[in-house]
Amino acid sequence: MQEVDVHVREVGLRDGLQIHPVFMPTETKLAWIRSEAAAGVSEIEVTSYVPAKVVPQFVDAETVTVEALKIKGLTVSALIPNYRGAERGIELGAHKLNFVMSVSKTHNLKNVRREREESLADFIRIVELVRAQPAQTRPVLVGGLATAFGCSYEGRVPVADVVKYAVAFAEAGAQEIVVPDTVGYADPQQVRTVFKAVMDAVGPIPVAAHFHDTRGIGLANVTAALDCGVRRFDASLAGMGGCPFAPGATGNIVMDDLCFMLESMGLKTGVDLAQLLAIRELVRAALPDIEMHGALARAGLPQHFDKPGHRQLAVELV
Ligand code: ZN
Repeated sequence: MQEVDVHVREVGLRDGLQIHPVFMPTETKLAWIRSEAAAGVSEIEVTSYVPAKVVPQFVDAETVTVEALKIKGLTVSALIPNYRGAERGIELGAHKLNFVMSVSKTHNLKNVRREREESLADFIRIVELVRAQPAQTRPVLVGGLATAFGCSYEGRVPVADVVKYAVAFAEAGAQEIVVPDTVGYADPQQVRTVFKAVMDAVGPIPVAAHFHDTRGIGLANVTAALDCGVRRFDASLAGMGGCPFAPGATGNIVMDDLCFMLESMGLKTGVDLAQLLAIRELVRAALPDIEMHGALARAGLPQHFDKPGHRQLAVELV
């Protein structure tokens, strides 16, 4: 697999589509996944193992997973809200399972309908389930701390709570921790505080960032996280997604803009930007009403960008 400096993970098929009222045809989802893998994105969160009656968009979770697993070199990950989701993921052979709980008590009750301690107890059972599988078929288990930077019900979320649950995940056996700004409240200063605290507390376990660009400072938050040593970022193509309860809210940070920024900074992502931009049209053709964002798509690549040594050239031209 290609060496990269920063690992980017596409989450648009899960985070972007979960609240979209129109079903994206399974074939379009698969075309999106295949194209983005071909463009160099090595990990894609392809679906969510929630009951289809809760989120009809994921009624095709089985087919999407099975087909995505046929793509060579792609890490197929999926969201799991509970033990049942983990069972489905293991049965299907997903490479990575992203367990989600909210640091905010109220958000956890609304999102997965239980107390945080119940979520943690479930996570511990999932670790046992994973460890009971033959070594070569065990998925990587990720602990996700939703609302780590704030909650639309409770406002500010104490850093000590984020650290507490990050440590609980690590001690239980999480192999990666994801720290999401679920509602787009984070600012770069807060990002530094939270990531430093979490990374100090969990030791060598990889810690990933998941930002939403709700208030336009998603990429600023990425640079703050980079300063802390974070090298894994979630993003969605064209920043798809949003919140039905927050008019004007955007989705995740824009994958196209994220990769452009990282490559401009000299950080290899392994992603071909022109190929990535072209996938927007594929999605637009299937879902003409879905909201798309992205500055790179609007402005295009700088003239010098696709030539070898563009960074040196950029410096010379200053
Ligand atoms: Zn999200």
